[in-house]
Amino acid sequence: MRFAELVRSYERLEATTKRLEMRTILSELFQSVPRGELASVVYLSQGQLRPEYEGVELGLAASLGARAVAEATSTEPTAVAERLRALGDLGDVAAELLTAGGKTGEDRPLEVSEVYDGLLRVAQTAGEGSQDAKIGILRDLLGRAAPLEGKYLIRFVMGTLRLGVREATILDALGAAWGGGTKESRLAIEAAFNVSSDLGVVATTVADGGVAALAGITLTVGRPVRPMLGERAKDLTEVLKRMEGTAALEYKYDGLRVQAHLDAHGKVRLFSRRLEEISAQFPELLADLPNALASRPAIVEGECVSVDADTDEIRPFQEISRRRGRKYDLERMQEEIRVALFLFDVLLDGDGRTIDLPFPERRRRLEALVRGSTRIRLATQRVVTDVPAAQAFFDESIADGCEGVMAKSLSAESSYRAGARGFWWIKYKREYTQGLADSIDGVVVGAFHGRGRRAGTYGALLLASYDPEKGVYESFCKVGTGFDDAALAALPEKLRPFEVQERPPGIDTGLEPDRWMKPGLVLEVRGAELSLSPNHRAGLGMVRPGAGFALRFPRFTGRWRDDKGPEDATTAAELLRLYRTQVRRESTEGDDAPDGATGVPVGRKD
Ligand code: ATP
Repeated sequence: MRFAELVRSYERLEATTKRLEMRTILSELFQSVPRGELASVVYLSQGQLRPEYEGVELGLAASLGARAVAEATSTEPTAVAERLRALGDLGDVAAELLTAGGKTGEDRPLEVSEVYDGLLRVAQTAGEGSQDAKIGILRDLLGRAAPLEGKYLIRFVMGTLRLGVREATILDALGAAWGGGTKESRLAIEAAFNVSSDLGVVATTVADGGVAALAGITLTVGRPVRPMLGERAKDLTEVLKRMEGTAALEYKYDGLRVQAHLDAHGKVRLFSRRLEEISAQFPELLADLPNALASRPAIVEGECVSVDADTDEIRPFQEISRRRGRKYDLERMQEEIRVALFLFDVLLDGDGRTIDLPFPERRRRLEALVRGSTRIRLATQRVVTDVPAAQAFFDESIADGCEGVMAKSLSAESSYRAGARGFWWIKYKREYTQGLADSIDGVVVGAFHGRGRRAGTYGALLLASYDPEKGVYESFCKVGTGFDDAALAALPEKLRPFEVQERPPGIDTGLEPDRWMKPGLVLEVRGAELSLSPNHRAGLGMVRPGAGFALRFPRFTGRWRDDKGPEDATTAAELLRLYRTQVRRESTEGDDAPDGATGVPVGRKD
């Protein structure tokens, strides 16, 4: 397929924000792609080269992109920089310069496969002299590109492709193309994605063999499964009611979720909640797991927490978070921050797939599988049938350094629901006993300049929840409290990659921040209560027409949710649940608190 054809579809995609229209464009595109190239086109449309979990990145700094443009168009670097300042987008600069150079892309037209292979080589080139080699590849591609092709090529490389294509839209498009657009086919496609986490594999399978072939996509060691998630309940009485009187309660460890894959040869790979590979960060788990599990291959899940070397007590989340993303000094960190992995589920055991079994059977298998070691243990569990017993277990969990309990359904339907949030798991945390039931994970969509003590950094951030139906980020608060000096100082650097000149599409708010941010960063906030405000758009109209949820007195907990992508943030539906379950105070203030009440004034001393 010609790259020019793909780019034409990208132009159409960029021109619309309507999900239905996007679905049509994508489904037409996918059907027109030769089968062998379908997977690459699916990845490219998401701005990726490989499934996300493989973590393949282009690794090209902005300055190098500019250099490639300069070399390919025989332009002085200073002139490229000048045009970049004027246009604000290197893709547009490339298009402009290619047009000026009379490039039509018709001499040796670019094929999609050439562009894809070239970009993959850019990503894979490493080591000494690699930057020059990367620029060389890009320059050669750009040298053959028509202006529009150059625009998208550069945007792809710079990570600024703004097609707005989400996983859900691709699943829709595949359903429309090869599943007759039915609800059943959409569910089957989504289920295949949930166990494989690879849209390229799903697309090729359904295109080749129709929906029936999707059943052949099975659990594969080394390919992460999208995590099952839990719902909330307002108290333990509700937990037991929803579980029809009997539930398995487990300690809810406050650490990092880890999905461990052990292959037949004893090699281990670890994945985070976001399905990023984190194997290198925990060498001690890689060493221990092959012996701690009685059969292989296996896929197990657990929570990794830090434990005190002397007392074996569980340490707070802040400690384990220091191990996250760390690449250097690993030996010293292993000594300093000891970890233990508390396993709570098994998806594959030996050659048998356990993911479809009800939870009691999975737990039984897990108990047989885990030989145990100092580092690899079973999550503490107790089956309860009444509230006092549940309360006692909850208290033990808190006393042992956990954040609450996870209640698990014992029913026949309690299979592992990959990628789903439902009442088969219910979380109940300590904070639920306070004002607002839970913390909220918000996506940073904007920032306000700081004044006084905060001059030069940001004074507050505009946070949004996510509506997966609409694919829109909707604001619910402006948070300025809870940032210590170090966090404040680090803010500009942390936010820089997300800054954009104009309001990105898919953001709904009544406020106008000083800087817009493209959705990417997620952080955890707590607040006194959820109220309603016309300035915020989260769950707009769910409780009252024209008003969205607003978090009163929000405070950053100090926890950046690097383990969550923007689409994993708290949803409008979850906010509604929180709104309904919050402990209503005797308050004289009306629901429509002025906006000042939903955010702490900029520059306020923390
Ligand atoms: P939270 O913000 O509360 O961590 P979340 O959105 O990441 O929530 P939830 O499904 O709401 O995910 O909460 C479940 C999380 O709790 C799991 O992702 C896992 O990391 C952690 N956890 C700790 N102990 C357990 C356990 N025994 N069983 C299942 N999950 C557990």
